[in-house]
Amino acid sequence: MNCNICNSGNERIFFSSTDHEYFTSKSIYQYTICDDCNLISLKNPPSNDLDQIYPSYYPSYEYKKEENKFINKLIYNIKNYFDKKIFSKCLKYTLNKKNIKILDIGGGDGSITKKLFSNKSISIKSIDIADIEFGDNIEKNQKINLIKIRAEDLTIEITKKKYDFIIMLNIIEHVIDPKSVMSNVYSLLEDGGICLIKTPNTKSLNFKLFNNTYWGGYHTPRHFNIFNYQNIKRILGKFKIIDQVFTQGVPQWHASIVGNLKLKKIIKKNIPIHQRKELFIITLIFGTIDLIFLKLFKLTDQFFLLLKK
Ligand SMILES: [Zn+2]
Repeated sequence: MNCNICNSGNERIFFSSTDHEYFTSKSIYQYTICDDCNLISLKNPPSNDLDQIYPSYYPSYEYKKEENKFINKLIYNIKNYFDKKIFSKCLKYTLNKKNIKILDIGGGDGSITKKLFSNKSISIKSIDIADIEFGDNIEKNQKINLIKIRAEDLTIEITKKKYDFIIMLNIIEHVIDPKSVMSNVYSLLEDGGICLIKTPNTKSLNFKLFNNTYWGGYHTPRHFNIFNYQNIKRILGKFKIIDQVFTQGVPQWHASIVGNLKLKKIIKKNIPIHQRKELFIITLIFGTIDLIFLKLFKLTDQFFLLLKK
């Protein structure tokens, strides 16, 4: 098997793990690393078992419920502040246009849509959300169109239109063939259109500490290809990179800690990770570390890429 992004044959088995976060199977999954580009890939990704590996309690479908819990309000307010900042940066590039068309790939809970509609400085013509499943709380709005599909199958033949702004937050690591997805996304953009990607970073402190026990960025078995801020350039084809922003990866810090405590049998109960009680305090501590300290050294657990066609 060759590397999914640089085609090198220098891949070797790197790590194996089970689902420590949602307990969707007892299987042991193996990961490979490419010695040429450092891409980490899940061997034999369970792409035909999406219903199993994304259970109904998966947080993408439960965002609103989680956000409304009293204890989570502060966390989500901080998260929303940073999300708004990055969206404003992206929208700056589309401001010369009126009535922009937006596509959110993997936005099944509708939370991004909600944030975009609350931004009064843009006029939105339509928002299409593409995902394999949608949350119950998705906003009913005549400008919102839902497309039930895998990111891999989303092409211009399906959408029948192009977009000014395509959002891909924590989706590219979930697809089988990231290169072909990015090439489809390029064709789905208007000339001058903008694409925003967010994905885990293997050049992070969290990865360095926990990659051989359990790093939250593996999200076993849901992340099929895991990048760093350098090797991701290999899947971008004709896109121009406008900006790269290092950002916090709190849920991954939390998952690393829980996964390691599970391996040591200190944590025994199988509680879905986003419902665990210590999440609040871990979020505050590691969010601060990632955002204030690690950002300086490009060692945060996630990064944004802002791309232009
Ligand atoms: Zn490679």
